[in-house]
Amino acid sequence: MTCPYCDLAEPDQVGWVHADEHWLVNQGPAATTMAGGLRVTSRRHFTDFAEMTSAEAATFGILLHRLDAALRAVTDAERVHLVSTRDRVPHFHAWLYPRPAAHPLRGTAFLDAPQSGDPAAALRTARAVRDRLGAEGVVDIGRGAG
Ligand SMILES: [Zn+2]
Repeated sequence: MTCPYCDLAEPDQVGWVHADEHWLVNQGPAATTMAGGLRVTSRRHFTDFAEMTSAEAATFGILLHRLDAALRAVTDAERVHLVSTRDRVPHFHAWLYPRPAAHPLRGTAFLDAPQSGDPAAALRTARAVRDRLGAEGVVDIGRGAG
């Protein structure tokens, strides 16, 4: 059985929101994801947090820190939710879902609600997040903090 996340193609139009030696980040499809819904996928095939190398574990936290800040800066997100089940595709990945301040739902009710987004808004948001990450200056999270 082949793993669909082991050989991800760079997304059309916008490209990766972020790419380094450990992680690939892309906007989810507009049909099932709101603008700013991002998937963080490991480059290496493994499934569980406990299988991360120390470099993957260290850089995952730094990447989440940067993505949370960028999403909150470029969207109206009051909170960015993190979800990672790996039940359907057992290759490590995690989703970030920005929850707008004005959204009527909170927590798991927000996460359970059907999501979709405008493709143009998704593209704009993905580019804005990428630009925001680039504007932070040179931070090579692929090599860790030293
Ligand atoms: Zn894989």
